[in-house]
Amino acid sequence: MSRFAPELACTACGGRQGADPPGFRCACGGLYEVVPRDAKLPPPAALAARRASPDPLDRSGVWRFREVLPDLPRPAIVTRGEGGTGLYRSEVLGRWCGLAGVLDLKHEGENPTGSFKDRGMTVAVSVARALGRRAVACASTGNTSASMASYAALGGLKAFVFLPAGKAAGGKLAQTLAYGARTLEIEGSFDDAMARVEEVCRDRAVYLVNSINPFRIEGQKTIVLELLEDLGWDPPDWIVLPGGNLGNTAAFGRALEEALALGLIPRLPRLAVVQAQGASPFHRMFASGARELVPLAPETLATAIRIGNPVSWRKARRAVEATGGLVEAVSDAEILAAKAAVDAAGIGAEPASCAAVAGLRKLVAAGKVAPGARVAAVLTGHLLKDPETTTAYHAPGRGAGANPPRRVANDPEAIGRTLDEELAG
Ligand SMILES: *Cc1c(COP(=O)(O)O)cnc(C)c1O
Ligand SMILES: [Zn+2]
Repeated sequence: MSRFAPELACTACGGRQGADPPGFRCACGGLYEVVPRDAKLPPPAALAARRASPDPLDRSGVWRFREVLPDLPRPAIVTRGEGGTGLYRSEVLGRWCGLAGVLDLKHEGENPTGSFKDRGMTVAVSVARALGRRAVACASTGNTSASMASYAALGGLKAFVFLPAGKAAGGKLAQTLAYGARTLEIEGSFDDAMARVEEVCRDRAVYLVNSINPFRIEGQKTIVLELLEDLGWDPPDWIVLPGGNLGNTAAFGRALEEALALGLIPRLPRLAVVQAQGASPFHRMFASGARELVPLAPETLATAIRIGNPVSWRKARRAVEATGGLVEAVSDAEILAAKAAVDAAGIGAEPASCAAVAGLRKLVAAGKVAPGARVAAVLTGHLLKDPETTTAYHAPGRGAGANPPRRVANDPEAIGRTLDEELAG
């Protein structure tokens, strides 16, 4: 497995590193990116044909785009056929957001462990194996750990998870434990867990797979590539996504710049990044015109984006600026209202995902996104990730928009009367 030899470059000073530097920050403090290979994607028809191939790498919505990913030896690759997620063209949600036409929703909750994290994880865990590592680790609000735990188990690696104690949604914690990752509940926020995992792993032979690891970003580029392919390589005007640690925003910017450079698209869509108001340091930086991000203590019910000190904010700022994009923030009440709309449309997603839809509605209302614009939103995680938030929202006695269950006697007449009432309503 010696031919795996990609180069990393510091995004701040340009300094070069081999594939396995001692930590993922340059001496200057900058983050690394993978130096692109001099490779082209196959033409659209050949790319699409891979979907029908029996080869697992062709069927993966990540490795189908392998020409623009790190050149890994095949035996190192751990894949679960990630990607290939659905694109929903919703008139109902288009109208809800104030758009004249449909809203396109790329549902990354349809990945094997239920979030987009699988797209980065298949690459990062495969790189760990190519580098001969025996153990991986991450700090996580829950989805990164669920994904890492699965891919590590499949790839025969030990897995260590640092979670903010008591702040991971039930579905995510269940997955992480079930897939066998050893889980440390850190008494602090995600940001504390992130700082600790970086410190502790540097001196041990444990490979860090947070999105500070630039190979994660490479895999996540395929969300945008597959979305553009779904749209026949006719780019939308806007791509809307939630922002937490901002790795995904960085990945989207990189994918769009590469797609433009490869001639796959004639122009760049604009990125709209949406944060939760209680965890919106990136939004505050843009709103105030500051050039430096000021970390804060995060609070929001959208636990996947409950992050106050996002690692990738400089890369993300570049992505927003390069695409003429913008950053919005929404309240938890706005997130819950958007989630109720996304769920009731029959699509469904976890709270953080629905921040994107809430943000779009706000941007259209404010005239920052034109009603006639073509917009694609990315739903980042599955509805079942956070059952607690959903059932609490729909509990009896809650307000408009709730869909509480009705308790009925075990009696055909009582049940019949109840159905008649519902049918008449
Ligand atoms: C990780 C995650 C996010 C945030 O992505 P970043 O890359 O950290 O900005 C948003 N939604 C869900 C469901 C996630 O799992
Ligand atoms: Zn540097």
